[in-house]
Amino acid sequence: MDIINDLKSMREVYWTNPGYRKFDDIKDELPITELEVMDAEKRLHRFAPYLAKVFPESRDGIIESPISHIPEMMSWIERDSGSAIPGELYLKRDDLLSIAGSIKARGGIYEVLKHAETLAVENGMLEYDHDYRKLAEKEFVDLFSKYKIQVGSTGNLGLSIGIMSAKLGFKVTVHMSSDAKQWKKDLLRSRGVKVVEYPDDYSKAVEEGRRDSDNDPMSHFIDDENSRDLFLGYAVGGMRVRSQLEEMGVIVDEGHPLVVYLPCGVGGGPGGVAYGLKLSYGDLVECHFAEPTHSPCMLLGLATGKHDGISVEDIGLDNRTEADGLAVGRPSSFVGKLMDKLLTGAFTIQDDKLFKYLRALYGQEGIFVEPSATAGFNGLFLTKDRYLGREPVQLVWSTGGSLVPTKERSKFLGE
Ligand SMILES: *Cc1c(COP(=O)(O)O)cnc(C)c1O
Repeated sequence: MDIINDLKSMREVYWTNPGYRKFDDIKDELPITELEVMDAEKRLHRFAPYLAKVFPESRDGIIESPISHIPEMMSWIERDSGSAIPGELYLKRDDLLSIAGSIKARGGIYEVLKHAETLAVENGMLEYDHDYRKLAEKEFVDLFSKYKIQVGSTGNLGLSIGIMSAKLGFKVTVHMSSDAKQWKKDLLRSRGVKVVEYPDDYSKAVEEGRRDSDNDPMSHFIDDENSRDLFLGYAVGGMRVRSQLEEMGVIVDEGHPLVVYLPCGVGGGPGGVAYGLKLSYGDLVECHFAEPTHSPCMLLGLATGKHDGISVEDIGLDNRTEADGLAVGRPSSFVGKLMDKLLTGAFTIQDDKLFKYLRALYGQEGIFVEPSATAGFNGLFLTKDRYLGREPVQLVWSTGGSLVPTKERSKFLGE
């Protein structure tokens, strides 16, 4: 296949998904339902008073991010690419999400909260209509301290799981890949999280974590590759976009389709968000995934139809990228099998461009995000012909950045 040769040669590619189906025709066959996403939203509301209490920076305890209009960045991209890009440009600010500073504050925190709720209810200490602020009391911390939570991560999932689990009182171990940033490991250790490091990549960290957890009946493994709960936490974020855009007076219709660009690692984050968006907007929303040229695992899995049966190493790529959140060599098959009907397209981006966009966004709009979070910008140029003659609402999903320490920021900005 031509596309595989292009991926091998690390050229930037755009791939249109031939398997795309109209949402109404398939929504009843999908393995995840709207009811489950609504149930997740209700659970997050039950926990809001607790989160507001233990993480005051989360204000009302609803972890959500704003959408920013970024016209200066749009002009910069038009100048940089030498071509007109249709529509208006917006940025979804998951770089600002409280507690974990990345999109992982959606899925990761949701799964930990759900696990805590299940344990507390099973132990007869909690009912759904109670005031969840009581989870901060000693008897709950004592209960959770008997249990362990484990996760394998390239960094940000570890941060969100580690910070939330430690706050509730769980024992928590994060299995980290070699490309995980030092400051993320340091931050976790400062919160009392056990960090185990592996010389190999992310898949190995996940494998070891899973084995360790399976041998311990008191341990729950958060499975980035297969978890429905992670996916549901992300899907809530996608569902909430509609009311946000409506409040901003942004119109989405046939002439103004919503076009979303999502950085993709293993797939759960962007996949969950895309599913939530589809539930809200159906075919009025078109989703595109962005991956580094060094780690295009989801594109490879979708284009070959092999999903987790093929890795980027299998076609000779090294899976080494500065976009640590996207440094994944093998996609989630659970997510891939959903996306092969819901995704409009996928594309890649070279590492040096991540930094070019990072600096441009900071220079033009004063917004700092981490390298992984800029991958979506490459899509604006790659899809421009598809939306010619329409006025799309272009939404780049920024996925992380606010926890990056000042020293690291200066390095990224080339200061
Ligand atoms: C995890 C992550 C992603 C991608 O999410 P996946 O669920 O791994 O696909 C994108 N950006 C950042 C900053 C991340 O941490």
